[in-house]
Amino acid sequence: MTRRVVDPARLAFVDVVTASHGHTDHLDPLTLRALRPRALVCPTGLQALAVERADVFPHVVDVDQTVAVEGFRFTAVRAEHDVPGGAVGFVVESGPWTLYHSGDTTAYVGLGERLRRFTPDVALLPINGKLGNMDGRDAARVANEARAGLAIPCHFEMFEFNSASPDVFVEACARLGQPCRVLRAGERLTLAAPRQGR
Ligand SMILES: [Zn+2]
Repeated sequence: MTRRVVDPARLAFVDVVTASHGHTDHLDPLTLRALRPRALVCPTGLQALAVERADVFPHVVDVDQTVAVEGFRFTAVRAEHDVPGGAVGFVVESGPWTLYHSGDTTAYVGLGERLRRFTPDVALLPINGKLGNMDGRDAARVANEARAGLAIPCHFEMFEFNSASPDVFVEACARLGQPCRVLRAGERLTLAAPRQGR
């Protein structure tokens, strides 16, 4: 639905790529070959496909395990998304920052609570509400349960058959008092400092 906003070759400064599962919008060979990351982190079930698509040796991590790679800490979080090879989300810790990227998942019971011990500064959550993903209302609730500093919606305006307006998410966040920010394709977000005193 949106044209390409950045040539992946311009992202060659990226050290590590995570792959949550094997769908092409989460493990894209053309993007990965242009990025040429030093390392890739993925669940065990994805290892063979990652080698094939990324041309880089994958570090594997399974649910509730943590690996340290290139100065980052990656913890795999259970995702509920029916796909061969399995699916996870990632909590990424780097210095004082903690970020959660859900990959694709429903808002299964207990997800927000699992994330709370990380209190992510930023939580990236899908809002398309179909094909095994949570909708905007549930994404706002999960972010709030996780006590996320900022919630950012994703998984919309990419495929026409699988999109949703971020309005529902923004309204649900407002009702909950959950800080959120909608990024348009190609938009950059700079955060000044992580939250203190967690
Ligand atoms: Zn997806």
